[in-house]
Amino acid sequence: MCGSQQFVQNHIRGYPLLDAKCKRCQALWTKYATVTSDHIRTEGKLRMAELQSELEQIATLTLEADAAGKLRIAGREAIRVHEEESHPSG
Ligand SMILES: [Zn+2]
Repeated sequence: MCGSQQFVQNHIRGYPLLDAKCKRCQALWTKYATVTSDHIRTEGKLRMAELQSELEQIATLTLEADAAGKLRIAGREAIRVHEEESHPSG
């Protein structure tokens, strides 16, 4: 009925269902959650440094945020590859 609501839900949930019995899935998602929160926290610190024009901190945090963002992408990719290999039907 309400297509946009459904779209939003799918968009938020946008990940394949987690197989709760698979240890590898659990480990990958735990790692992904950790690097995601690291990334968000680093970006938050970067925004604060920008507001306060802390140039040295901005330089350092930009590198950290970039590295954290790459870890996050790599973590997501590792999940995708694992799911293709081990859980192809879902
Ligand atoms: Zn799995």
